[in-house]
This record gives sequence, structure tokens and C-alpha cells, in this order.
Amino acid sequence: MNKKRIPVAGPWITQREVRYVTDAVTSNWYGNASDYIQRFEMSFATMTNRTFAVSLPSCTAAIHLALSGLGVGPGDEVILPDVTWIASAAPVSYVGATPVFVDIDAQTWCISPCSLEAALTKNTKAVIAVDLYGNMPHFQEILEIAAEHSLPVIEDAAEAVGSSFMGQVAGSFGTTSVFSFHGSKTLTTGEGGMLVTDDEQLFERVLVLRDHGRAPGDKMFFNAEVGFKYKMSSMQAALGLAQLERLDELVARKREIFTWYRERLDGRVQLNTEPPRGLNSYWMVTAVVPESGGLRTENLMSGLEAEGIDSRPFFHPLSSLPAYREIVSAARARQQNVISYSVSPRGINLPSALSLTEDDVDRVASVLLKMLEAV
Ligand SMILES: *Cc1c(COP(=O)(O)O)cnc(C)c1O
Repeated sequence: MNKKRIPVAGPWITQREVRYVTDAVTSNWYGNASDYIQRFEMSFATMTNRTFAVSLPSCTAAIHLALSGLGVGPGDEVILPDVTWIASAAPVSYVGATPVFVDIDAQTWCISPCSLEAALTKNTKAVIAVDLYGNMPHFQEILEIAAEHSLPVIEDAAEAVGSSFMGQVAGSFGTTSVFSFHGSKTLTTGEGGMLVTDDEQLFERVLVLRDHGRAPGDKMFFNAEVGFKYKMSSMQAALGLAQLERLDELVARKREIFTWYRERLDGRVQLNTEPPRGLNSYWMVTAVVPESGGLRTENLMSGLEAEGIDSRPFFHPLSSLPAYREIVSAARARQQNVISYSVSPRGINLPSALSLTEDDVDRVASVLLKMLEAV
């Protein structure tokens, strides 16, 4: 028994990435310092059908700047799905506003438009919709509700580069969309993020906020206000550009991995859904097991672990975390978000690294099926 460990996530790096990064570290200094940054931003704006793109050190920074740039602050409420990575929500606290966690949809696992509508108050200042695990929320309804109440929508597309909904690509919904290029994501720069928008005012504001309150092009180091320092390096941008040029290939591989799983698990567990007239780029193949068997996320994870297989738990409802114990709206969320609290404890992210082989998927699926049959 000397089985190789199966990782849960990881990138696909080729000679193109090595070449671009080598070029950046060799020559992107002095007058050329921002060459790859500009190319990466322009290509990313084009890919998402947006006018403006700003490269950043993380998606967390992008959400922070989006909220700051939209003027969200103390006393304001920001509505977001209860089930997502905490990075979607933490920046709400950074700006002194209150997160309001609403329920997810049972099929898409993304924010439920009905729950969103029911949570609106006179203090609501923005909505964050998350494209969870490559799935897409019901954007038509969400954007309609937001428009009726003149609310900006931030699309957290960190997990959905390459997905689309009703013929529109992830990153093109709402006032602004944000991405992550963390090492676990489909397109990676090691650490990194991007904010895209068509709103020129927001774009200009973000440029000032991300560079210590300096106007773009300022050569006098003259700070108009206290801002943040959120910038990407040219080496990261070079890596990102190479990955972006290979996006179709990266997404095709993710979709192939999902197909291998679907062929083995369909009907036994609930898997990621394909959006209407759209495409799922399946960042993480995610399985939710039936209520009846009594299996829970911890059982599934330890069963896989015993066979040398890494996995991750479905995100916990944020309202259940110690981090949000003191938030009044979290107490209400714990009562009301029935789907979140039903799905999350039965869900697991299966290995979805871009290096995965069909034999790996075979191994994972047979362990999982054995556990399902044993109950
Ligand atoms: C990964 C992720 C983020 C945060 O990205 P960082 O680049 O690590 O800051 C935000 N939202 C979601 C949904 C994510 O999966």
C-alpha cells in the first residue's frame, strides 16, 4: 500500500507561465515596471466584458475597496449569502458596516433572491452575490431586486472564472465584480485579485484608495487622504497573463474532471448545477449527500482521509461561526436560513486539482460510494 496522496486543489503551470515570469523578473523594472500589469488588466477587462480592471493583492482587498469605493460605512447593512468563504464577508466589518446573512438556494447553493428581498431594510447599502464553487446565482432576479431599491451589487466571482449565466460571463454582473487568484483557484498568481467595473467613478476612487490616497500618476508623493496599499507585482501579473491566455484550456480540464465524477456519482449525491443557458467552470466539484443516510461532512472527510484523499468541508454558515457570535443579525440567520443549515453539514468539496487524473477520480468515487452503501 503506497498510494499517492490526492490533493484537493492546485494549479496547472506550463512553460508559458515560466517564460512570462522570467521575463517580468528580468526586465519589468524602471520604465517597464508596469508592462505586465497593464497587459493583465486589459486582457482581464476584455475577458469579462468590462471597461475597467484593477489588479490587486487579493480578492479580499478587492471587496474591501469595492465597499469603500461605494461609500459603505458604519450604520450600513450589506446583504450576502450565509454560506460562502469568510473573505466575502470580512471586508464588511473592515468598513464598519454590518453583514446580514441570508439563505441560499437549494439548487444553486448561491444567494436566494427571496431571502435577499425579505432582508432589505432602510439601512441596506449593498448586496454581495457569490458564484459558489463555479455555480451561478439567479442574477436576473437579484439585479432586478437591487435595481428596484437602487442598491449596488458586488459579484464575488472568486470561484467562477470562466463560468457564465444566460450567455453572460462571470465577472460581468452588477456594479462591480471581484476575482481571486489564490493558489487554490482555477486561474492563479499565487496570491492575487482583480476588481472589474464599468463605473468610471468607482474605478477612479479605487485607484486612489489602493495607493495610499495618491491620485494616479502622482509624482510628488502627495497624499490627499489616508488610503490603503493594495497592489499586485509585475511577476504576479506575468503569471496571471499566461494563465489567462490559457483560460479555455484550464476550464476545459475542470469540466473534464467534473464529468469523470458525474459519470460515477450522478444520482447518488447532489453535484454542482449548470446555470441556465450558461456554463459551470466547476472550480470545486462539490457533493451533497442525502439527508436519509445520516452521513455528515466530518464522516465523509475522515473516510477519504483514511485513504490518503484530501477534501474540504462545504463552507459553514457564517452565522454559525465564532467570528460572528456577537452579530445580532447572525442570531436571526441561525433561525431563518433553513437551506444553509441543511445543505452545509452534508456537503464536501472533492479533489479538483488541475493535476487530477481519471484514475484519481476513480479512487475518490469508489471510497465515497462505499461509504454511501454502508449506511
Ligand atoms: C478565495 C475566495 C475569496 C478570497 O480570495 P483571496 O484572494 O484569498 O482574498 C473571496 N471569496 C470567495 C468566494 C473565495 O472563494
